[in-house]
Amino acid sequence: MKIENLPSEFIDARKVLQVIEQNGFEAYFVGGSVRDTLLGLSIHDVDMATSAYPEEIKKIFKRTIDTGIEHGTVTVMFDHKGFEITTFRTESGYQDFRRPDKVTFIRSLKEDLKRRDFTINAFAMKENGEVIDLFDGMTDLHNHLIRAVGDASQRFNEDALRMMRAVRFGSQLNFSIEDKTFNAIKTNSHLLEKIAIERINVEFVKMMLGIAPSRGLQEMLDTDLFKYVPFFNQYITEIEAIAKLNLNGKLENEIQVWALFATELNLDHNQIRKMMKSWKCSNKMIEDVLHVVTGIKMLQNQQLIPLTIYQVGIDNLLNANQVMEIYDKAFKADDLQDAYQQLPIKNKSELNANGGILIKSGFKPGPQLGKVLNDLELMVINGEIENDEATLITKANELVKEN
Ligand code: ATP
Ligand code: MG
Repeated sequence: MKIENLPSEFIDARKVLQVIEQNGFEAYFVGGSVRDTLLGLSIHDVDMATSAYPEEIKKIFKRTIDTGIEHGTVTVMFDHKGFEITTFRTESGYQDFRRPDKVTFIRSLKEDLKRRDFTINAFAMKENGEVIDLFDGMTDLHNHLIRAVGDASQRFNEDALRMMRAVRFGSQLNFSIEDKTFNAIKTNSHLLEKIAIERINVEFVKMMLGIAPSRGLQEMLDTDLFKYVPFFNQYITEIEAIAKLNLNGKLENEIQVWALFATELNLDHNQIRKMMKSWKCSNKMIEDVLHVVTGIKMLQNQQLIPLTIYQVGIDNLLNANQVMEIYDKAFKADDLQDAYQQLPIKNKSELNANGGILIKSGFKPGPQLGKVLNDLELMVINGEIENDEATLITKANELVKEN
């Protein structure tokens, strides 16, 4: 099969493949970009593979960068753009169920495609659009199936992350997992414990942000994968309930994903921290999610409270509202924007008094000053006092006298 009009993302990269071919080597587009082109989906990154060894690629092109030379990846600079090219390779070892012990560069396209995870990820495409399909990926594409290349059980023993990738692609494409592949996941699900949580996290979030996250969740439950991930293994019943929600097309980003789980698992702030730390989420992500959960609680009560809106911030308020969409309980985004715009101040720096100003008007530096400033901030947000310097200084004096 030949694709006649290649999407624009391939056009520049084609020239790189042509140059490699002119030098007597083979070179192809591989991986997700070929799959997504065949499906008519948009492409994010164009992966390329070649029979030329890294040293040979470096001889062909004037400017190259050793991006991941030990795995055979070199970045070629061409027409002022960078293109990553990876030498065909086989992987062997896998004694730890994750990384191969040894990567060997090879000349055979077939051997390179054989090590890839699923048939729909094992296409190669020439620069002229001709598609090479050695594992009948086209049939699986038509039948909407995720099928391991070769013996599924063996492939999951080599790299247990592939089991998460199966459910991730299932959700991203709304494909089913082919029976043998599915059963092999079920048999080997415990191997997921061998995989670094950071890598599981990436696949899990991609799954939740796919077009069919409920399907992905149900498959993780049915294959027992959920039993072998941190924290969630204690909440299988709650996760069964999440899988039944109408999630498709709702979640827009990672913050919303974690906030949904926090809400459905009914977690307090400490438990949310615990969940997210066990998944190695960043501190910034944790803080955002805590704000979103605060926002969700407010919206669930059908209230718009200035102080809460101030603390949560507009971005996370909109994130909270998007989670409310799942329950058909969202506010109109405009109403939230209005409530936010009506806040007297949007952050502390907009308060027309600060430590310096209060000290100049006679206040002593110290912890009391900080407390007074906090009280002023609250009063301004709640509309109890005007945000002008004179009012704030007067009020500050009153507060000090009261204490
Ligand atoms: P995406 O759209 O998410 O980029 P992708 O298919 O390009 O999807 P990548 O993770 O970028 O996925 O990997 C590129 C290709 O490398 C895959 O299509 C697959 O052929 C191969 N690959 C990636 N990870 C693995 C793995 N763990 N085991 C086997 N092959 C893999
Ligand atoms: Mg990719």
